[in-house]
Amino acid sequence: RDRIIELQYRHLNDMQRKAVLTTQGPLLVLAGAGSGKTTVLVNRIAHLLKFGCAYGSDYVPRDLTPQDIASMEEYIARCQDSGAVIPLPERIFALLRYRVAFPGSILAITFTNKAAKEMKERIVQLVGEAAYDIWVSTFHSACVRILRREIDKIGYSRNFVIYDDSDQLTVVKDCIKELNLNEKYYDPKEIRNLISRLKDQMKGPREYVDEVRGQFREENIGRIYQLYEAKLKKNNALDFGDLINKTIELFRLRPDVLDYYQKKFQYILVDEYQDTNMAQYILIKMLSEFHGNVCAVGDDDQAIYGWRGADIRNILEFERDFPSAAVIKLEENYRSSQTILDAANSVIQNNRGRKPKRLWTQRKHGDKVRIYQAYDEHDEAEFICRQIKDLMQQEGRRAGEFAVLYRVNAQSRVLEEAMIKYGIPYRIYKGLRFYDRKEIKDIIAYLRVIVNPADDVSLKRIINVPKRGIGPATIEALEGAAAEMEESIFGVAIDLDKNGVLSGRAAASVKSFVDLIMRLIALKDTMGIVDFVHTVLEETGYRSELEREGTMDALARLENIKEFISAAREFEEANQGADLVDFLENIALVSDVDEVGEDESAVVLMTLHSAKGLEFPVVFMAGLEEGLFPLARAVDNPDELEEERRLCYVGLTRAKQRLYLSYARNRTLYGGSMLSMPSRFISEIPEELVEPAIGGYAFEFGDSGVKKGTSVDPIVSFNLPGKVTKEKTGPSPRFALGDKVLHQRFGVGTVVAMDGEGADLRIQIAFEQGGIKKFMANLAPLKKL
Ligand code: ATP
Ligand code: MG
Repeated sequence: RDRIIELQYRHLNDMQRKAVLTTQGPLLVLAGAGSGKTTVLVNRIAHLLKFGCAYGSDYVPRDLTPQDIASMEEYIARCQDSGAVIPLPERIFALLRYRVAFPGSILAITFTNKAAKEMKERIVQLVGEAAYDIWVSTFHSACVRILRREIDKIGYSRNFVIYDDSDQLTVVKDCIKELNLNEKYYDPKEIRNLISRLKDQMKGPREYVDEVRGQFREENIGRIYQLYEAKLKKNNALDFGDLINKTIELFRLRPDVLDYYQKKFQYILVDEYQDTNMAQYILIKMLSEFHGNVCAVGDDDQAIYGWRGADIRNILEFERDFPSAAVIKLEENYRSSQTILDAANSVIQNNRGRKPKRLWTQRKHGDKVRIYQAYDEHDEAEFICRQIKDLMQQEGRRAGEFAVLYRVNAQSRVLEEAMIKYGIPYRIYKGLRFYDRKEIKDIIAYLRVIVNPADDVSLKRIINVPKRGIGPATIEALEGAAAEMEESIFGVAIDLDKNGVLSGRAAASVKSFVDLIMRLIALKDTMGIVDFVHTVLEETGYRSELEREGTMDALARLENIKEFISAAREFEEANQGADLVDFLENIALVSDVDEVGEDESAVVLMTLHSAKGLEFPVVFMAGLEEGLFPLARAVDNPDELEEERRLCYVGLTRAKQRLYLSYARNRTLYGGSMLSMPSRFISEIPEELVEPAIGGYAFEFGDSGVKKGTSVDPIVSFNLPGKVTKEKTGPSPRFALGDKVLHQRFGVGTVVAMDGEGADLRIQIAFEQGGIKKFMANLAPLKKL
């Protein structure tokens, strides 16, 4: 019998199979990139549903007849002869199923909504419809699901709203203002991030205040945190950290609820375990206490969310946290060529705090890693586009086979522009995205108020949008009264007749707003989500206001609103019977972590962080420059530098066949420009694995000066790509001090200094537009005037 089950997993290697078949007790799969961790997870779930925990148990099917044994033997022989897995005869299948897990007893956690969706699809392929009832989700959505059912047991209402980063920021700003503190000294973003990090470690305001007693500034931050918490509670809102923490609180306060979920989830599986934070760890620990079947998979070398509170300790100490855990390591990589793996291995080797492991593959060595030195970010973007075009033509590749990865979102604009110029279809995934646009946030705010009128933050956003004569003074009066009466703003507004907070025109305006919201609340359940969104847009005058405006900007906003409606339509179609609350929740969660669109026919542009877990035949990593990747702030901090290096490792290991690394000598980013040096990560790749990219120019190994042991000359000559390259062998133009010259990019200037000679002649030019720059005379696009 065991032999037959093993045959079912012939497509896996021995260690992978072992991980799939080890169903009972804690299990850690610690393995490098592309070694099939996610594949194991998916197969393990399918196995639990198909065969249950039969394997390895001493169970013998009770009604096993001699004919059964004969037919099993025959089946094995047939499989061996054909070399493929042949479908199991029904009778054998029935005999092998034993204490099969039912879908609702499996909880699978992944890092992004997209990963969850993909995982579900892969399980459906393996076991069919049964997969739909499995809880495959992110930590956040799993917690939301639990809280929507249970949170009333700890004094919240079940229609709570979820505040994302920007809502959080609004609240923090409100708190700072209310406490009469100055944003100059109390940077709202910094404080928001701090609060989130504290929540990751499950530190409430009280713990924080205790910790920082006596430190003036920190104590004030503690007061902000305190007020922040009070405001969230008053708005019946939870932020992302709360989703996890309130679930834990619920489980602590209500053992009966915990007991229910502990018994429900017989099998818990977590992908990307290296990026869990302390609160998430505790949640897993609590939930798995009864059955003890936790399977965590991850790679300590891919821990890249330390800055968001993830704790690499979780994976390194799994065996201590879950005694008697089995540990399985996978070392064969099925994704990348040997060259790409060697490059990735040699980069990550420079990190100290890691469990040593080395990936190998049976694949061919493949192409060398191509390195392109660009003149500036525009040149870099064009290089990438040209390369994509060439590969599409020469190798018949589809656009969907390419990914361009970068360190920070701001790099995407130039890349996008080049994609448009070259007519390459692309998809972008940004942190600041669709749901962060003003008009979309406005509609969402309306919907939230309708679902939960106590949501002051959303209410303030739209109470005067479009303008309806409710000015800041009126809002302040309402807010003040609300604070005094411990009411929500809406609560005060609805009672104006009695409480007399406002009078005259102001009162009339507010009353008609209240009527509007009340009318919408009454309509909410009478129609579907799409129709209701239309109704809200009509009734509030939001759409007609934009139509009246008629500017380009307004038209773009109307387009976005259409897009929002189609998102609502998609949601409604995919989730029969879902209501507005479900829809809002879906929105809040998709805007949480980066997520890539579905389109197969477009090049994907995204940050390195969001590329985690994905793979592409061809990968470009752009902006490998000191100060950008690794980020400047990481350069002097050994821990942060190691995290950047892990991020680099994640990027390198996304590539299956071809890998390009590029850097620009001049980069303008966030409006400032800088001269930059190639990233140290490039010089960590052995020379024999790389070669300069064709069509680019003059990457010389070791040229970076960042190479270990060499000193850095901050003003190195620029090497220029593109057209200029072809002139490389031509006679070098003769320049003399004082010559007027025209530079293709910087315009007119005067030669002010020269050194070296022949091919090495370097000249310095003072440009009329300002600045002295240094060039290699025979390479720079210079014309004597
Ligand atoms: P990452 O660390 O990047 O998340 P991973 O360890 O989760 O990677 P997978 O994404 O599961 O790796 O697998 C990488 C690739 O290798 C996938 O294309 C998968 O289909 C393939 N693969 C995994 N196991 C095998 C196998 N035994 N035989 C052939 N291909 C495999
Ligand atoms: Mg994976």
